[in-house]
Amino acid sequence: MTTRPRPVILWFRKDLRLGDNPALAQAVAAGRPVVPVFIFDEGPAVRPIGAASRWWLHGSLRVLAADLRARGASLLLRRGDSEAELRRLIEETGADAVYMNRRFEPDAFVHDADIAQALKADGVECHGCNGALLCRPGTVLNGSGGPYRVFTPFFRTLMATASVPPPMTAPAAIASVRGLSGEALEDWALRPTAPDWAAGFDWTPGEAGAGDALAAFVSGGLKSYSKGRDRPAEPATSRLSPHLHWGEIHPWRAIEAARRAASDGRIAPAEADKFAAEVGWREFSAHLLHHFPQMTDTAFRPEYDRLPWRDDPAGLRAWKRGLTGYPVVDAGMRQLWAMGWMHNRVRMIVASFLIKDLLIDWRAGEAWFWDTLVDADLASNVQNWQWVAGSGADASPWFRIFNPVTQGQKFDADGRYVRRWVPALKDVPDRWLHAPWTAPPAVLQAAGVRLGRDYPAPIVDHAEARDRALRALRALPGGS
Ligand code: FAD
Repeated sequence: MTTRPRPVILWFRKDLRLGDNPALAQAVAAGRPVVPVFIFDEGPAVRPIGAASRWWLHGSLRVLAADLRARGASLLLRRGDSEAELRRLIEETGADAVYMNRRFEPDAFVHDADIAQALKADGVECHGCNGALLCRPGTVLNGSGGPYRVFTPFFRTLMATASVPPPMTAPAAIASVRGLSGEALEDWALRPTAPDWAAGFDWTPGEAGAGDALAAFVSGGLKSYSKGRDRPAEPATSRLSPHLHWGEIHPWRAIEAARRAASDGRIAPAEADKFAAEVGWREFSAHLLHHFPQMTDTAFRPEYDRLPWRDDPAGLRAWKRGLTGYPVVDAGMRQLWAMGWMHNRVRMIVASFLIKDLLIDWRAGEAWFWDTLVDADLASNVQNWQWVAGSGADASPWFRIFNPVTQGQKFDADGRYVRRWVPALKDVPDRWLHAPWTAPPAVLQAAGVRLGRDYPAPIVDHAEARDRALRALRALPGGS
């Protein structure tokens, strides 16, 4: 009598790809049937994903399921508590091993470790790989063996010590188990219907979409990335952030594609280095959060939690809706709503406006981004919000307060970005576009703009708001 080999479970989470996927490669190498599963767990252990992320997840799972189907396997969808669902699946299939790529956000990391420990205690092997980051948190440490708090030495050490994993092509075929029943993706209602606020989203979730975005960037924006990346009207950045977040592409592959373009002489090496450094900020954020889990809720520099944050629901609402009266801020917030994404330069400007001009707690902005960004990423979001607030590890000082008018004039000099997202201002001449309230009435009239009706008057005076923010800083212990 021959005994059928026990299958192994491949537990997909934020690694929604088949190429360069170490957990998948190990599961296939085990030489036994593979049960690929995605469990939608909205339980209390990990912060639930936001609305825009749900939209992305739907698209990405659909592509992953099709890619698996093309290789003879089917993606099983289950919903509920991860451990309970894994146990149910083990029971149904007789599987005795689980392969997964680790998540490194602290809550998820602990949750996964607890599950692995519980399953191991019952005789199920659990294999955790790193498919998300350039290297595992805990492997890039300073001379005293502690985590870095400053980006530049962190990144230098990382680049000097990390080994680049060799490319792994997606397996041509995956032996699978038939007859298992899962849920239908449509039943999860991840995408909005009434109203469909995502109707204008211009994204292609999934591994192929990630590859296309990278290829377009390498032959396009990368050439002038270091300058172009600060101009929000230019398509100069990679737009890889949601693909990286959901693990549709390995970060090393993105860096390598840029480096290849440099070594082939297609771009200057400095452009590839700059791009690698930005991917490095993603890495730095992930490592920081891993080592300092309290960063999600409390200031990295605790004195900043004593700032006298204002309770200003009207200001917060105006900011969320892009109705602050500062064109570059409003353009950014409207881009976010329309695309589920915002250009990095403008993210910094709108964050500074919320925190310093409105003196609203950065956590309110972080929560809004979490819900509305397709690339919402706990580590990058929290790290960047704290960077702007000045409370982060390697942060911009509090007294650096972005002036939304001069930022607009500098980085959107010809006004293309503002005109695209705030069409009410499209006929305002460049000279007044970023501060329409300073335009002579005849100019506004000719442009068809009645301030306060077609476009809001500024909700705060930036100079006064700046003074208020600086006074708040000086009142902090150690503030000067
Ligand atoms: P590119 O310029 O092409 O950069 C390549 C990759 O590097 C990005 O895809 C991203 O993975 C990484 N990267 C670039 N800049 C940063 C950065 N400052 N910090 C961390 N990683 C970076 N990024 C997120 O992925 N998720 C977030 O939730 C997020 N929240 C942010 C909140 C604020 C207040 C700010 C100021 C920035 C935030 N960022 C976040 C970082 C950055 O704005 C985006 O990663 C970037 O705009 C994505 O566009 P891109 O892929 O075209 O970037």
